[in-house]
Amino acid sequence: MELRFYNTLTNSTEVFQPVDSDCVRMYSCGPTVYDFAHIGNFRSFLFADVIRRTLEFFGHKVHHVMNITDVGHMTDDAAADGAGEDKMQAAARRMKEDKKSGKVPEGAVQNPDDPYQIAKYYTDAFLADARTLGVKVAFEYPENILHATANIDSMLEMIGQLIQNGHAYVGPDKVVYYSVESFPAYGKLSGNTLDQLMTGASRRISDENQANKRHPADFMLWKPDSTHIMKWDSPWGAGYPGWHIECSCMARKRLGRDVIDIHTGGEDLIFPHHECEIAQTCGATGQETFSRFWMHARFLLVEGEKMSKSKGNFYTVRDVLQGRVKDDKGQPTGIHVHPSVLRLELIKSHYRGNMNFTQKGLVDSAGAVKRLSDFRAKLEAATGGKAEPVDLSYPILNEFASALADDLNVAGALGAILPWAASNPSDPAKALGALNRINEVLAVAPLHPASEDSGAGSGEAAEIQALCKELDDARKRKDFAAADNLRGQIQKRGYDVKTSPNGTVAEKRLA
Ligand code: AMP
Ligand code: ZN
Repeated sequence: MELRFYNTLTNSTEVFQPVDSDCVRMYSCGPTVYDFAHIGNFRSFLFADVIRRTLEFFGHKVHHVMNITDVGHMTDDAAADGAGEDKMQAAARRMKEDKKSGKVPEGAVQNPDDPYQIAKYYTDAFLADARTLGVKVAFEYPENILHATANIDSMLEMIGQLIQNGHAYVGPDKVVYYSVESFPAYGKLSGNTLDQLMTGASRRISDENQANKRHPADFMLWKPDSTHIMKWDSPWGAGYPGWHIECSCMARKRLGRDVIDIHTGGEDLIFPHHECEIAQTCGATGQETFSRFWMHARFLLVEGEKMSKSKGNFYTVRDVLQGRVKDDKGQPTGIHVHPSVLRLELIKSHYRGNMNFTQKGLVDSAGAVKRLSDFRAKLEAATGGKAEPVDLSYPILNEFASALADDLNVAGALGAILPWAASNPSDPAKALGALNRINEVLAVAPLHPASEDSGAGSGEAAEIQALCKELDDARKRKDFAAADNLRGQIQKRGYDVKTSPNGTVAEKRLA
């Protein structure tokens, strides 16, 4: 079966073939760790995870790497290089407030003025959330998660190479700039031309450093700045790297190739970030291509607007799992959600369309996860857990594979498997074999979602058990008001309250 992906570089859907048949080399732009990643960010990371798992489903070995942007870039970098406030500095200010208000636990970040401690706090949170949602790259080799601050040497090397190759220059302000005019393909990915960029089609024209640049679209590779919160020595003075260079360097270094197979990110990275990555890598390697496929996820929206840190309209993974999603009246629902439900919610609609995050969508996803996990439990029970391997000739697996091979049509795949999961297959061992393979890609059919940790934090199970015991005690002493109150408390935390021969038991609701 041919795998076809939409390639932003060519604006068309193409048959995917890796450069080297032995392994697919794939790079994903990761998070900026000056705050918690929100679920919009996770839409992009899960999109990359589904690509990777799909490739594996089709028999490819995949080397997938992701970066962590822990250098403090500037708040206005997208419009003007090096302008605005350093994001790490802003994070330090916020961290002090969050420590005072108790939002960040005392002792979690000893010194909020140390950007490395802030970066570590949010990196750990990101990796924990990514693991909770089943993002594979976060739980394999740590070497595949690359920290920008640990790779400054290779950035300096690539900048030196770009100067040597005539693609970069030191401006009158001592900043090292990439010369976009030296790279005729600049603009190919995003559909920009240098003329458009020159005449004001881009916000970058507002760049305050214009007078120091040969062309307004030239972008910063290194900025000497002895006052910057994070700085390193360099042949161009102590300072910090530009926003784009880390990905060019780390992709090449870790994947070990000048030309890779797939590069992913959210749609906002097409320009300028990925356009600049291509110019840098090709400028340094002399190759015509950096990545064969460029794949981008459209934004997750909240009420029609992009979910973003700067707008403040975002939910973190923890917000969703712990019931802090707001209802129509702006009140937290208090409904705890299993991680598989959030994972499904974020992958179920096509990545090339915007997706609106709603409570209703979450409830629908909860229903789908429940159906899939009940089906799995039923097949496990019928077969004693002995699945029979099946290949793509097995009808449902064939439908599933065809949908995914068609530019990752997860919605189409679900359209086939959800009705199947409501059926009673006559060959449960084969059906279980198929479901296991499907779940290797989607990872949304947990075996016992009611008893699994929802990521809501340690001690929750013990607390709920204690409440059940209190409820039993209240019943025994016929204090029905107290019993009702306790039942309400347990339900509010996302559990159904049931009576068993051994007393009250609470079962986690999927939504
Ligand atoms: P950042 O941490 O801001 O650098 O973003 C990390 C990744 O999330 C990038 O690939 C962004 O393109 C992506 N991203 C940011 N906001 C959204 C959103 N609302 N929906 C989907 N992806 C997003
Ligand atoms: Zn990047």
